[in-house]
Amino acid sequence: MIPARLEGRHRRSWREELADAITDPRELLEILALDPAWLSPALAAAARFRLRVPRSYVSRMRPADPRDPLLRQVLPLGEELLDAPGYSGDPLGEAGANRAPGLLHKYRGRALLVTTGACAVHCRYCFRREFPYDAQTSGGGRWAEALAALAADASIEELILSGGDPLSLSNARLAALTASLAPIAHLKRLRVHTRTPVVLPSRIDDEFLQWLAQLAWPAVVVVHVNHAREIDADVAAGFARIRATGAQLLNQSVLLAGVNDDEDTLAALSTALFAVGALPYYLHLLDRVRGASHFDVSEARGRELVRKISARLPGYLVPKLVREEAGATGKTVLS
Ligand SMILES: *Cc1c(COP(=O)(O)O)cnc(C)c1O
Ligand code: SF4
Repeated sequence: MIPARLEGRHRRSWREELADAITDPRELLEILALDPAWLSPALAAAARFRLRVPRSYVSRMRPADPRDPLLRQVLPLGEELLDAPGYSGDPLGEAGANRAPGLLHKYRGRALLVTTGACAVHCRYCFRREFPYDAQTSGGGRWAEALAALAADASIEELILSGGDPLSLSNARLAALTASLAPIAHLKRLRVHTRTPVVLPSRIDDEFLQWLAQLAWPAVVVVHVNHAREIDADVAAGFARIRATGAQLLNQSVLLAGVNDDEDTLAALSTALFAVGALPYYLHLLDRVRGASHFDVSEARGRELVRKISARLPGYLVPKLVREEAGATGKTVLS
């Protein structure tokens, strides 16, 4: 049934919405009535890592507010061009952890498949902003080698579909991938790491939900919300439909200066997540990727914030504060 508010006009598919995402900084500034002085640094920073943001996400931003926490996650800034000591292109040393093209096996029992380099949104703080996807993505018909490596290692019980964002793939591609995983008897769980349900809720369509509901393994969907204002009615509806398939719904956030680095914002995020059926899982300290140093929050401040929200929230609403370290055998838990 078509919801009443959509009757009489064409309901756009997620593919159309994705193709129509804003990629020109000039247009973003105009829509939000922001000072044109932001344009020249935005163009310079976007030349290194392109602007990309779906319009439905932009509609949740406050116009004329350059400090809006949603805008800050996507607007290219001049600060990105500063060289900060300790920040590099591959902060996690992932280039060396590949078992096969696109298959990262760093942690016991779990392997991560880089299914695609594409994302619905470009997050300015992303640790994979310089990831050499062309060389290290298992997409484009190159899954075979990764799947063979997976099948050959019985210690791997859980496969994490990651990217980029696996929900950039069509439902048919996802179905083809999981069909080829089905014969691997030692796989016990399938996990999907995705930000798309937050920035492009229309992606959670019927076919996707059928795919999720019919998987051969218990599924975990880890979404990525950084601020309570990212959750609107469409996002909430998508989360509810994901949960209705029986999948576990968890959230991971990144602790970001100027976005969510204060006690009230983090507490509001946890309670907003609970209200839409997602439990806070991880709060990541920023990975030191070149171009993102202006988002850094110190470890000491991160610990202090988690201590403060622990004092006012039930334990199940307090995410674990973690840092990823190159060469470690798991995330380093700091709280
Ligand atoms: C984060 C991550 C995982 C999953 O770690 P969990 O602690 O199980 O969430 C697995 N592999 C890689 C390479 C990762 O970065
Ligand atoms: S959606 Fe995830 S992988 Fe894609 S740019 Fe954002 S943080 Fe990076």
